Amino acid sequence: MFADKIEINVKAGKGGDGLLSFRQEKYRAKGGPDGGDGGRGGSVIFVANHNTNTLADYRTKRLVKADGGKPGGTDRKHGKNGDDITVKVPVGTLVHDSTGSVIADLVEDGQQAVVARGGRGGFGNAHFVSSTRQTPRAAELGEKGEERQLTLELKLVADVGLVGLPNAGKSTLLSVISNAKPEIGDYPFTTLVPNLGVVDFEDYTFLMADIPGLIEGASEGKGLGDEFLRHVERTAVLIHLIDAGSEDIIRDYETIQTELKNYAVDLSQKPQLVVINKIDSVSEDDLKSAMSNLSKHLSKGSKVFAISGVAKKGLDELLRAALPLIKQARAAAAEEVAEKSAVVIDEASQPELWQVEKMDDKFVVKGEKIEGFARRTDWDNDESVARLVDIMRKRGVSKELTRQGAESGSVVEIAGHQFEWLG
Ligand code: GDP
Ligand code: MG
Repeated sequence: MFADKIEINVKAGKGGDGLLSFRQEKYRAKGGPDGGDGGRGGSVIFVANHNTNTLADYRTKRLVKADGGKPGGTDRKHGKNGDDITVKVPVGTLVHDSTGSVIADLVEDGQQAVVARGGRGGFGNAHFVSSTRQTPRAAELGEKGEERQLTLELKLVADVGLVGLPNAGKSTLLSVISNAKPEIGDYPFTTLVPNLGVVDFEDYTFLMADIPGLIEGASEGKGLGDEFLRHVERTAVLIHLIDAGSEDIIRDYETIQTELKNYAVDLSQKPQLVVINKIDSVSEDDLKSAMSNLSKHLSKGSKVFAISGVAKKGLDELLRAALPLIKQARAAAAEEVAEKSAVVIDEASQPELWQVEKMDDKFVVKGEKIEGFARRTDWDNDESVARLVDIMRKRGVSKELTRQGAESGSVVEIAGHQFEWLG
């Protein structure tokens, strides 16, 4: 099958803790603060790879985990960052999180997506020295790495899709020009699942899919067609095969066109090469009249190709015509990807947002950044907590709490931690 779905847990590394330390100096009881920052936790990164064909490897491997960052050292030494972990997935992998929203759509070889971001390292106390605070007795904890349950879905991204009525010779053609070994039969519906083959042609490699027999009404969900039409949606070029021996070539052509048109996305608008196949099985005269009939029927003198999969005739000419269309589509897709991935991957560029929600017995503070500060707070250390409160004050969170009725003694919850509000 083309479509494959697996579940996988990804866990980024925790940031290293910042260090609370003071320089050892001769003749002085306590030197200046010198605790270094913790290292960043490793992230989990998915990268689309042309040589990875299935998600099968991840059926057994249920958890992918990156290393944590190392804690800060004395003498302001920065802790080592955790290594990122890179996971190769097939081109065409769609990544959903547990709410079902798409977090990455990897459609180009080499395209990357950070699916779990490593935790930030905590600041060591050396970081907090200021003119008014000479001996900061607080260091931050490293932030937890993101943890997510993901669903990976592999969708076919074939450059070329073969369409045509059952028995038009799609499977045969695919077996002749690609490395695929599809089943070939002389009765309709031989191909129950689509096959995917790699075609090497003139220093260029592309993927070709044999889409199983479309039957009339397939776009309305009749038969197997609808399920598989979904795969055609992403192909760049369609090769439309018509049996040269058919009694009515125009009708065959129109049957498929109607199906393509009626699909949710009008597939008949895709670049299409119209091909009469099995030319070895008809006389030259019959072929000539079939070609001219079809050509007249098509819009403005579109070219009709003539091939034989079995006799391997006309194949180079067909592939040579497909090549520029494939290249064009790939270039357009790459552009779209560049735009898309900028949005998908870079969550960090979102403006800082927070909100205060009044519940029955507490006030809950939410917001990615402010919760990040809270997660790095060492709740056992008064100075560390004071710093968080200071940040909340500077960002206007405190004001909002007061506005909503928080007073001394109210319970405030942030990032899962509750504390008493001192007003
Ligand atoms: P599909 O249903 O479109 O995948 O068609 P198949 O590839 O399974 O072919 C259907 C039948 O047509 C099989 O018996 C093939 O051997 C035959 N066939 C396919 N291509 C050619 C061709 O170029 N010439 C001839 N004479 N027969 C062909
Ligand atoms: Mg077939």
